[in-house]
Amino acid sequence: MQNLMANARIVLVNTSHPGNIGGAARAMKNMGVHNLVLVDPQEFPSGKADARSAGAKDILENARVVGSLEEAIEGCSLVVGTSARSRNIPWPLLDPRETAAQALAELSKHQVAFVFGREDRGLTNDELHLCNFHVHIPSNEDFSSLNLAAAVQVITYELRMALLASEKGHEPVPVWGTEWDAELATNDQMEKLFDHMQETLVEIEFLDLENPRQLMARLRRLYVRVRMDRVEHNIMRGILTATQRTLKKLR
Ligand code: SAH
Repeated sequence: MQNLMANARIVLVNTSHPGNIGGAARAMKNMGVHNLVLVDPQEFPSGKADARSAGAKDILENARVVGSLEEAIEGCSLVVGTSARSRNIPWPLLDPRETAAQALAELSKHQVAFVFGREDRGLTNDELHLCNFHVHIPSNEDFSSLNLAAAVQVITYELRMALLASEKGHEPVPVWGTEWDAELATNDQMEKLFDHMQETLVEIEFLDLENPRQLMARLRRLYVRVRMDRVEHNIMRGILTATQRTLKKLR
């Protein structure tokens, strides 16, 4: 159990209340999840976080503090973003149980991140666009936003339930098949691909940065949705490089 959970990380973005960081650490440790990454927390380390963590101070001491979400999810092949409300460009959306089934199927193969947003305004659209899936905890529509640590509790609880079921031989069924002939691309490889794609689309005058509309967001959604593997990723990078080279020759 421990080994699988070693590939799971909980990422809290720009948390304002240190008490919530402590509460999240406690929720994680209760469910056997240990890797906490904090993106630009407003107050950390903090006595308030320590107090709320109860006996989970070790999670706080081992927490990694980074400056950006990209850094926090580096090396992950599955990134799940949590959201209390729907957004303008819908992304593949799972409930916590489906998320846990999917994550469990992938944890033995690669790193998986669960991303949580700010107390006052959640995750930005750009941050949500770094994720493969979004997960919504099906709360009361008129009062949908959970406390941050409570949201971490729900997701890690479902993960633990999925793990316990699998240990009893009732393997939860992932929404997306995980048997594949090549390793999946990691988040940082995908980011390089999107940078390269944007650069090339500007060069061939398909994308106007003055008037980008939603082009990159839509392409992102297309490519994160297919769960690209490393071979496919290299082919795409090769096509872009060849396009740029040919364009240069023609000019
Ligand atoms: N007012 C914010 C909600 C922030 S709640 C908003 O409108 O987005 C803080 C964080 O807790 C969220 O970013 C998300 O990570 C998590 N969270 C709270 N309620 C949730 C829900 N119903 N489903 C999924 N995540 C939720």
